Amino acid sequence: MPECVFCSVSTGKTENHIVGGDDFSIAFLDKNPSTPGHVLVIPRRHVERLDEFSLEELKKYFGFISRVEKAVLEFSGEGSGYDIVNHYRPFIEESEMVKKHLHFHVIPRKFNDKIFMNERIHLSDNEMKGIADMISEKLGLIK
Ligand SMILES: [Zn+2]
Repeated sequence: MPECVFCSVSTGKTENHIVGGDDFSIAFLDKNPSTPGHVLVIPRRHVERLDEFSLEELKKYFGFISRVEKAVLEFSGEGSGYDIVNHYRPFIEESEMVKKHLHFHVIPRKFNDKIFMNERIHLSDNEMKGIADMISEKLGLIK
């Protein structure tokens, strides 16, 4: 079985635009963003669903997501909003698009941006690096 893509992000085996992490979670830019600053937040440990966590672990994970939420809002600027979403779809085969490792999307939104989850934008590697650095700075954690 091929190694889980998100586990390899967590261990640093895969090149990604990491914005920050702590001992329990890690945040990085979605490679196919819906909007600039679209971040994925994963637990370092491979789980598929929230109910695999203890209450203490849920607290760590959502505490971290909340920090990312704040950093992403600051990055997006005045009047911005966000979508925070998680999908659990065990009926879909593992692929590059659908990961089974638990993850939450934090997607910056602007008024009338007409963005939907299935529409993605293309950003250059340099643009992605710049965005990751800006959010990382606001998050204030090690990368
Ligand atoms: Zn995994």
